[in-house]
Amino acid sequence: MNIGEAAHKLGVDPAALCPAPAEPRFTEVWERMQQEPPCSACGQPSRTSGVVRNRVLGPRWLDRCRDCFLATPPILRRPLSQAVTDIREAAAEVGLRAVLYTDEDGGQDELSG
Ligand SMILES: [Zn+2]
Repeated sequence: MNIGEAAHKLGVDPAALCPAPAEPRFTEVWERMQQEPPCSACGQPSRTSGVVRNRVLGPRWLDRCRDCFLATPPILRRPLSQAVTDIREAAAEVGLRAVLYTDEDGGQDELSG
């Protein structure tokens, strides 16, 4: 699901979220994550941050703890098999061996590249 759907599923009130940059750079997101603000849904220390775009309120930070993030997983923008291939190729380009674990078939398979 996208981040807006995640906020909705978690029952987060957009008006309660902090204003955020419209198009945050990675460093801005990283700085936010390093602060470990309370999870927007449950108040536990957050582990990830992103921006929800609200038509009325504008961009707002959505901070999620581990459990809330796992309850609202992001959508891969490409098939898992293609993502694995891309990661293997990127690792090979820099001379690293990639060992990837997926649960595409309901189990965990080691995919060594
Ligand atoms: Zn949470």
